[in-house]
Amino acid sequence: MQSLWNDLEAAQYQGDLALRVYTSRLLGRDKTLVLHGGGNTSVKVREKNIFGTEEDLLYVKGSGWDLEFIEAAGFAPVRLDHILKLVQLPQLTDPQMVNELVTHMTRASAPTPSVETILHALLPYKYVDHTHADAVIAITNTADGAARMREIYGQDVVVIPYVMPGFDLARLVAEIFAREASSKTQGMVLLNHGIFSFGATAQEAYERMIALVSRAEVYLQARGAWRLPAPDAKLADKPLRYDIAALRKALSETVGAPLIVATDQAAKYRGFAQRKDLSAISQQGAATPDHVIRTKRLPMLGRDVAAYAAAYKNYFDTHAPQAKSPVIILDAAPRVILDPEIGLAAVGRSAKDAAIVADIYDHTIDIILRSTALGGYRALPAKDIFDVEYWDLEQAKLKSGGKSPVFAGEIALVTGAASGIGKACVESLLARGAAVVGLDINPAIEMLFKRTDYLGLVCDITSDDGIRDALEKTVRRFGGLDMLILNAGIFPGGKRIDQLSTEEWRKVMAVNLDANFALMRECHPLLKLAPNQGRVVVIGSKNVPAPGPGAAAYSASKAALNQLMRVAALEWGADGIRINTLHPNAVFDTGIWTEEVLASRAKHYGLTIDEYKRNNVLKTEVTSRDVAELTAEMCGPLFAKTTAAQVPVDGGNERVI
Ligand code: ZN
Repeated sequence: MQSLWNDLEAAQYQGDLALRVYTSRLLGRDKTLVLHGGGNTSVKVREKNIFGTEEDLLYVKGSGWDLEFIEAAGFAPVRLDHILKLVQLPQLTDPQMVNELVTHMTRASAPTPSVETILHALLPYKYVDHTHADAVIAITNTADGAARMREIYGQDVVVIPYVMPGFDLARLVAEIFAREASSKTQGMVLLNHGIFSFGATAQEAYERMIALVSRAEVYLQARGAWRLPAPDAKLADKPLRYDIAALRKALSETVGAPLIVATDQAAKYRGFAQRKDLSAISQQGAATPDHVIRTKRLPMLGRDVAAYAAAYKNYFDTHAPQAKSPVIILDAAPRVILDPEIGLAAVGRSAKDAAIVADIYDHTIDIILRSTALGGYRALPAKDIFDVEYWDLEQAKLKSGGKSPVFAGEIALVTGAASGIGKACVESLLARGAAVVGLDINPAIEMLFKRTDYLGLVCDITSDDGIRDALEKTVRRFGGLDMLILNAGIFPGGKRIDQLSTEEWRKVMAVNLDANFALMRECHPLLKLAPNQGRVVVIGSKNVPAPGPGAAAYSASKAALNQLMRVAALEWGADGIRINTLHPNAVFDTGIWTEEVLASRAKHYGLTIDEYKRNNVLKTEVTSRDVAELTAEMCGPLFAKTTAAQVPVDGGNERVI
């Protein structure tokens, strides 16, 4: 493990707290140390208060902050003497503890201090760093973890047996530390949990963390338990999308809300899922309390949805019948599914949730395999896992969860998404909480948005294989398909029929009609499996009800597409799929309409550009965003009972009216 400390970089951080920010970010950058908001750090400083009196403060990481991106504002300043008095109490519940911490901060706007604050306070060192390092957890999660820790670290670290994080752990650490710490002590290991390092400076504490964890890595290397051979698990060349979408539907029905099921067929995951000892090693429990909180209970093996349903039903019947919201209900169910073909499937109410679950389980697999290579993985005792799940603080966090966005857990596919109306549709759907896949022949589609709930795929929709490939990728990435926005289309330059070649005619038909037909056919089995029923929106054109001269191929293709939509509405109604069309007109903020083209068209009609843009009954400009917002609404509850509708979005057109 490499130290990322850099003198030049560090020189930009002046003062104790700034350097605390710097090395916290260094820790956060190494995912084998901390993952997604895991781990915490602190620094003790003396500051003058408003009366000019000096007082000792503990700046400790606030909850909700990720070490990798933390700023000074992410640290909560808590009065140190008050925390140290708390440790003298015989007992303190977690909510009481949080109340005491929050009411003894010196900045009202600071985040809630970490639940491990008391631990940081009572360790008598200026800088304290805490991580859930994979290597340390792999070694401590074995039958003789404590002995191995002493073998590796000798007197350099104090070893604490497993106790759930909170006040009891703090008391135990105070007691053991008073007895065992010496001038040689550089850190502390909490069995089945993680490691602390200490220092007089930010650099010393950080470098000690790197050095201590490196010793654990060397120990694993020496026993052939560090670099794990890649499993030989050949991926069958067959579509998985129907299986995955069916699994997602069943899970969503169990939980009572649509779910993202993000899958990954990497050999590492399929190999793990194919192990003969999978049950024994994966069904013991989580590796650290931090992982329990985010992945919940044990992974589900294979596609036995009944087991999933039973797991959460049992949990609720016994423990939490009052919890009704899907968000809370989901927190009782397994978040990870291991399947020999599908590989790793991570379940969440959003793509971001699912990605975090997948990341954490990826590290859990490393930990389990390394512990197994050392002689046997031992998870947290079952009772302790239960305690973590019931941890008052965690429950409080869940209950404060806000209302879900309208498309939470749903997946939309938009064609022609790199620009104009298509791109605006992607934005409107993302804004409503959907995970969105954008297709376009323009490679810019891939980098259009950099976020976990967006996937951009280069796709020529006139190729059936291209469509199938895109759908396979869509479902593997997010779990299914709920909404389809058929937007891609071409509008060639105006030509009268006597000038129009068969070749040009066929090209327009191939994109505007044939490709949409193939998309509808290929998407249908997936839309049928949408937990909240499938929805399709066709971006039509004013040219359907009111064609114009010089647009024969375009008008005919859009009219035929419109008729296709009406047939689909009839055929798919029984599957609960609704399909509707929007007829936009004169949307000028798209790639086709440059300033020059606009100016020349306006001049042609003897209008200014502004008059030309508003040349409709309502004298209003219609933008891509207007069309996109209506498209998204057509997929939402307002249109739940509407299918085969054709809605103009054109500011009113006299020929249509
Ligand atoms: Zn911890």
